[in-house]
Parts: sequence; C-alpha cells; structure tokens
Amino acid sequence: MLQKYGALKQARAQLLQSAVDPFDVRFETILGPTEAILDGRKVLLFGTNNYLGLTFDALCVDAAVAALRADGTGTTGSRIANGTYGGHALLERRLARFLGRREVMLFTTGYQANVGILPALAGADDYLLLDADSHASIYDGAKLSDAAVTRFRHNDPDDLYRRLRFLADRPGDKLIVVEGIYSMLGDTAPLQEIAAVKRETGAWLLVDEAHSLGVLGEHGRGLAEATGIEADVDFVVGTFSKSLGGIGGFCASDLPDFELLRLASRAYMFTASLPPSVIAGVMQALEVLEARPGLHATLNRNATRLYEGLAGAGFALGPTISPIVSIRLDDTRLAAAFWDRLLKAGIYVNLALPPATPERQSLLRTSVSAAHTQVQIDQAIGAMAAIGLELGVLPRVMQHYINAAQ
Ligand code: PMP
Repeated sequence: MLQKYGALKQARAQLLQSAVDPFDVRFETILGPTEAILDGRKVLLFGTNNYLGLTFDALCVDAAVAALRADGTGTTGSRIANGTYGGHALLERRLARFLGRREVMLFTTGYQANVGILPALAGADDYLLLDADSHASIYDGAKLSDAAVTRFRHNDPDDLYRRLRFLADRPGDKLIVVEGIYSMLGDTAPLQEIAAVKRETGAWLLVDEAHSLGVLGEHGRGLAEATGIEADVDFVVGTFSKSLGGIGGFCASDLPDFELLRLASRAYMFTASLPPSVIAGVMQALEVLEARPGLHATLNRNATRLYEGLAGAGFALGPTISPIVSIRLDDTRLAAAFWDRLLKAGIYVNLALPPATPERQSLLRTSVSAAHTQVQIDQAIGAMAAIGLELGVLPRVMQHYINAAQ
C-alpha cells in the first residue's frame, strides 16, 4: 500500500541529510508564548501563529480551567446528534457581536470551517473561484464540493475579473474565495479591487481571515475591516488557533437562512463539537483582544522591527510587512541546512517547502508575536544574519547584525 510514497520517502531521507527532521520537532516544555525547551536547551519561538501571545494569558487559562471543572473534558459528539452546550451558543453570539454579523457557525477547527462551508455553499452548477495560493483547507473544501473550481492568479483581480466574465452567461452562483493574510509570505489580498470585481460581476465573496483576525483592522476584525469593505463580504471564515490562542473555527454571515447550513455542512454535522474549556478560553481571548488594543499595536511594531531588520540584513522577503515574515530561498537543501543551524542557535522558525509554497520556493517562515521582546527579535535577526552570511545566502551583511548575534 505504501509503495506509492517512494518519492516522498526519498525526499525525506535527502532532507534529513541536511537537518534534524524539521517536520517532527518535539518540544519538551513550552515555557510561554515565545520560549520552549528543546533538547534540554531554551529556544526562542519564531514559528508559531501566536500573534497576540495569549496562549498563557492568565484570564484565558483561568476561564478554561473553570469551564473544564464545570462542564467536563469534552462534549463526546456533534451538536446535531449530541446537543449544543451553553458555551457554543454564547460564543456564537459573542463572535457575531464582535464581527458585526447576524449569524456565526462554529466548527471544531479552522480547517474544518473551510472543508465544511465550501461544499455546503457551492453545489452542482455553481462555481468556486479560488486564489491560486489558497490554503490547503480551501482546496480540500473545494474538492468536496460539486461546484466547478477555477483558480485565478494569486492576488490578481484582473485575472479574476476575466474568469468571471467568461462565466457570465452560465447559471449558478459564483463564489470568490480569498484570504486576509496569506500564510506563507504574509502578503494581503487586494481586497478593495476584489470587492469591486465581486460587485460588478454579481459574485459572492468569502474571506478567510485566519491570519488577519486580531491582527488587522482597528478592532481586529481582519483585512475586510482594514480595507473598509466588510459590507461586500458575504462570508467570513476564521480560526481560534492563531491570535486567539485556542483551537476551533467559524463562518459568519448576514445571509438570511444561513442557519440552514448547520443541516447541510457535513464537517459541522459529523464531528464532535468544541470542548467547553476551549470555548471558555476563546471567549476570554475575545475579551482580552477588545480590552487591550495595545496588544495589536505592539504586534505591528514587532512585525515592522522583524521585517525591517531582515530586509536590512539583505534577505529576500515577502512583499509586505506583516506578522508573517518569510525569507525566500531557491534551494531546498540550503533552506533545510539554514533552518537546522538556526535551531541549533536557539531560534525556532518554520521550514516551508514546495509544493506547500508559492512558486515552489523554499521558505524560512518566521512569525512574530505581541509577546516577543525587542531583545528577542534582535537576537533572531542577528542569528539569521550571521547564519545567512556563513551559508552564503547573504553576500554582504552589515557587521552590527553579526555582533548582535554574539
Ligand atoms: N485557513 C487558513 C488561511 C490557514 O492558514 C489555516 C491554518 N494555517 C487554516 C485555515 C486552518 O486553521 P486551523 O489550523 O485552525 O485548523
């Protein structure tokens, strides 16, 4: 059965020649949002999605513990078959209020939100128009849908427009799917232009704000808020596993009868619902997000410091400053060796390799949190610059970056 994975086996073996297994990193202890123990040594975490650093927030932890004691460890089933707990309904109302939407449906993960909502929305005779750099959960949701799937060039509203014009005479709904911040390079969608295409062509628009919720927009509602086009967004997808520090996903909408999708979405109906402790932690995280707008400002300051530091050192990065800052490398083995050296220097980042990356690039994906200190960020920049120089990634580097690493 597994012979078909011969090429994968070979690729992994080759990767392991230049690095300890980057896809099997085992932390012994998580010390907090920015530090962990690995092989008995402290490492700085620059490869999480813990944008607001809330995983150890005392209020969130207390709320989760209290719910765990009050309502138990799990729900043991789906809401359709086994019932809704008070917390599910409360969180749906709380999120609806936060997002300014009529209705919210919870899912057990962000992945399941896309896998559940796309086939429920787009059926036979409908069309899904996906940005080419869409997350795997969007592609997988599209695969489960009976709709025809069209990919348009990444962040290219003109290409999207051409494709929608081509479909103009066909009956059926057309649903455009884009992301707020793209997870690999940290770039944002040109949402105003995409919204204009949507209006002109009569299509629907879904924005996955997985990486932008709590990160963009004055109130943290995401890229649609930041670009002022929330009224054009028909469906907002998001996750609790990043800025809110928990796990779970949702889809929000103002559409009348959106509620019906609870009986049409298989990933909603046929999997166990979120446990009470997670719900309580996420509810509290939303309170923290609203009560502490400073977190948001700190995150953006940290993102700028990391981006400008790495750009200044001479690395090729993504096009925009965001909490995801990726160093682009052409060579997989070099990227793996770089990643390995960084880990040994006490800096953990993500190694992202083709085919999971745009344009088959190898990426050292770093991400920053509001919880990082400036000293930690400078330490990471210094280590990356020093290793970049040593491995020949950087032809020239300013000496102070090397000094900072020492
Ligand atoms: N959508 C996007 C755009 C993502 O980047 C991710 C996770 N990286 C998900 C959905 C899935 O979210 P989760 O990990 O919470 O299931």
